[in-house]
Amino acid sequence: MFKYGARLYRRFRDLSVVGRCRSSSLSSAPERALQYSIGQKIHGFTVTEVTSVPDLFLTAVKLEHDATGAKYLHAARDDANNLFSVQLRTTPMDSTGVPHILEHTVLCGSERFPCRDPFFKMLNRSLSTFMNAFTASDYTMYPFSTQNPKDFQNLLSVYLDAVFFPCLREQDFWQEGWRLENADTQDPSSPLVFKGVVFNEMKGAFSNNEQLYAQHLQNLLLPDHTYAHVSGGEPLAITDLTWQQLKEFHQTHYHPSNARFFTYGDLPLEQHLQQIEEEALSRFQKIQPDTAVPAQSPWNTPREASVCCGPDAMAPDPAKQHTLTVSYLLGDITDVFESFVLNLLSSLMVTGPNSPFYRTLVEPGIGSDFSSLVGYDGSTRNASFSVGLQGISVDDADRVKRIIDETVDDIIVKGFEEERIEALLHRIEIQMKHQSSSFGLALASYIASSWNHDGDPVELLRISQNVERFRQEVSNNPAFLQDKVRHYFKDNTHKLTLSMSPDEGYVSKLADAESVKLAQKVEQLSEEDRKEIHQKGLELLSMQTAVQDASCLPALQVSDIQPTIKPTHLEMGTAGGVPVQYCEQPTNGMVYFRAFSHLNTLPEDLKPYVPLFCSVITKMGCGDMDYKQQSQQMELRTGGMSISPQILPDHTHMDTYEQGILLTSSCLERNVEEMFHLWSDIFNSPHFDDIERFRVLVMSSAQELANGISYSGHVMAMTHAARTLSPAAELQETFHGMEQVKFMKQMAETPDLPSVLRKLARIRRHLLNPDNIRCAVNAAPDKMAAVAVQTERFMGNVAGTRKQRKSVRPHLIQRPLDPSADPSSSSATRTLISEPHFQACQMKTHYQLPFPVNFASECVRTVPFTHPDYASLCVLSRLMSSKFLHGEIRERGGAYGGGARMGGGGLYSFYSYRDPNSTATLAAFRKGVDWAREGTFTQQDIDESKLSVFSQVDAPVAPSDKGLSVFLSGLSDSMKQEHRERLFAVTHTQLVDAAGRYLGVGQSVCASAILGPENAELSKDPSWIRK
Ligand SMILES: [Zn+2]
Repeated sequence: MFKYGARLYRRFRDLSVVGRCRSSSLSSAPERALQYSIGQKIHGFTVTEVTSVPDLFLTAVKLEHDATGAKYLHAARDDANNLFSVQLRTTPMDSTGVPHILEHTVLCGSERFPCRDPFFKMLNRSLSTFMNAFTASDYTMYPFSTQNPKDFQNLLSVYLDAVFFPCLREQDFWQEGWRLENADTQDPSSPLVFKGVVFNEMKGAFSNNEQLYAQHLQNLLLPDHTYAHVSGGEPLAITDLTWQQLKEFHQTHYHPSNARFFTYGDLPLEQHLQQIEEEALSRFQKIQPDTAVPAQSPWNTPREASVCCGPDAMAPDPAKQHTLTVSYLLGDITDVFESFVLNLLSSLMVTGPNSPFYRTLVEPGIGSDFSSLVGYDGSTRNASFSVGLQGISVDDADRVKRIIDETVDDIIVKGFEEERIEALLHRIEIQMKHQSSSFGLALASYIASSWNHDGDPVELLRISQNVERFRQEVSNNPAFLQDKVRHYFKDNTHKLTLSMSPDEGYVSKLADAESVKLAQKVEQLSEEDRKEIHQKGLELLSMQTAVQDASCLPALQVSDIQPTIKPTHLEMGTAGGVPVQYCEQPTNGMVYFRAFSHLNTLPEDLKPYVPLFCSVITKMGCGDMDYKQQSQQMELRTGGMSISPQILPDHTHMDTYEQGILLTSSCLERNVEEMFHLWSDIFNSPHFDDIERFRVLVMSSAQELANGISYSGHVMAMTHAARTLSPAAELQETFHGMEQVKFMKQMAETPDLPSVLRKLARIRRHLLNPDNIRCAVNAAPDKMAAVAVQTERFMGNVAGTRKQRKSVRPHLIQRPLDPSADPSSSSATRTLISEPHFQACQMKTHYQLPFPVNFASECVRTVPFTHPDYASLCVLSRLMSSKFLHGEIRERGGAYGGGARMGGGGLYSFYSYRDPNSTATLAAFRKGVDWAREGTFTQQDIDESKLSVFSQVDAPVAPSDKGLSVFLSGLSDSMKQEHRERLFAVTHTQLVDAAGRYLGVGQSVCASAILGPENAELSKDPSWIRK
């Protein structure tokens, strides 16, 4: 797994703060942690600082390990979703991808846990809420979280052993890094090719133009040290890395003296320290790691550079595919206040339609949108700021550069409106109060970069202190921000202008370069070497296929899983005749409002426009506000307002579903009235006459969709394959699949936008009828009554003006919202569409895209949620993924990922991600079915699959989202409990039976799709449709 530093942690938005806060009691975790004293010795560590951070409801305890100098930070907080992370400073001086390959190989087996791939195996032996590893530009991080104390200890043992005592076998290096191998491993006469997980992963990563651009930008802007290199690995440079170099890098970088430990949650700190000391640190002595990154020395003159990329088949305007960005080197990220100010300043400059750069660059429609890297980047030792456009014509390059310079000048003269600054500070306040379900992880990510360069992580957490100081600075000097702009932008000569242009031959040039490199390596081989390579390939294959003994690994038992769910208490009421679900939660001063409106009266021809409607309606201006004023008000008064299209499958019938749109918003309690006022204006009087504004939004939506394919190609492939299998899946393709990408490309190209806008105006008239709508409110108990009054007023206002409309759907079914609720106490219903005449049909589609890798999928129509076999299919999907498909598709096939999943709509889907194979992967899916039918798996395998299913079922839910599954899908606690009991009861016989009955050839209707490059095999096969 590999994440780009440059893409992480760029904005305040990334600090989605605050886990679940239990009501404060005397022995709360933060209070207990305040008892530690500076200088106190605990299990080989010394406490160096204890700080209360009331903003985030936590106590921070800093420690240092006496013998090794390892740094440690504990954040004590009343959150059961405990997190551990260890972070190593990894600063490579070449592009062989050594830190990235190391990240993969340490997870392939260790001293105490020598079995193959303990990391993936633990996914099934644990109830973890998160497990992963990341390679950033200058550190590698291994985090996990879990709500179960025993699980925490188990995972900690496995993580510590993996990081500090990995086996790093030569075979692990071949598998995860790179190797030469016969194309057909069995056949010694087949040509030699490069194989390896990271090798393929990075080829896939750089097929994404956004990632390619981000990488070039970082390499060129910070050329003096580690940032000049590709930490993830440049595909061809990867093939220069040796096993010996990998082991050396581990010795010098994965040492406690070069490590930072972070723990978070309500578990006792002493226990963590003891385990870390006993199982890892006690075996080390201090070293002086040579891993520090020096500050970049600034340039005397600005620089320019240009790079090439592959053409984008989905680009809204093929003649406009150039990207141009100007980047500025900023200060050291360990200066917490300066970074805070620059981050804020960057947001003021580029975020939202009121920002100066939006006005001068995006609004005139020179390009399709801002380039993907716009704004502040604090992921490197020196921060940077970038601004520019994507989707421009090459002739506009000079114009863009000129505008950027002029805009900087303009900001220095005019400064920023006070209200915009207030809006931004309001957003920070909301982010501190909003409670996410993965607060520990957000925190670990938030502090990682600065701490990595010895910045003070605790200072970083004291956000309101920085806000206060900022206010002080601005009141002392009203030109405070303008002075910063002059210093960092106007007078800054460390400035890079980077342009990227598509090259028709780009993909083939890459392939040629690979052939040349391959030929060089092959040329040097003797007959003897070739024999050895064939032999090693066979050995690797046999190791990969050998039955594995994972008994050395710790595991939770099925009996460790909670037998019953904790019920969520909900109250039903009405407001203006509309049903409202109230859910009282400790929301920390926030109010969350949602409204669902079905679309059953909407004419068929308007359907493809629904996603576009949703993405623009909150951004066009409304009431007496233009879109800029509207955006400002939304920032000042709310934590965000958005609308999304919804397709909600039925739990009892495959051909029944509910469709509509969902309004989502949040605000501080004091702003509820303003939030509802905004919603009223948005629906009663949106500005559907501003064509220029609309054009900008359409271009940017189209661009965003096109850019997303290479990240979520597996989802796109599954959605495309499934479209002929059920009515809900067909609509899914229309709303969220390749059809929508294509549709938006047409919209971006159409000269007749006014007629599109008229269609959106028609859609609006079908929404928010009192008959069509239901609402949900999550708020603190003491505020609920006041919020209910506001909700009543809002519904009266919005819904009162609507006309009755007739449904265009012939078959509608009414269902109670909560099937288990007493019908006399609640009249809330859902209106589902039934398509009794729907005929599922088999279809195989090859969707051709200019990628070097494939996304393959096969979907099978099975049974809905309440069917007795549904639970077996859920367990089966996990079983096949971890015990068969992972080995076939990832380890032997060289794909980045692959598996099977059971979806709520009753579709069983196989998929692969960034896959060098296509039809071979489809064959592997089929082999998986045969394997399941043979039933050679054990009870242990079944139990592990159940743990894996339950870790998803029991994933923590934030207070803002409690009760949502009833509200949206009518999935009540008692239905969940019934499903739970069925999951516990799944047997070996049921699994074999389900595999045969549903997945066997000819048993059910199934369909396949492959997204990927031209494919000779598929074009020869007439059963495949080409798109
Ligand atoms: Zn990776």
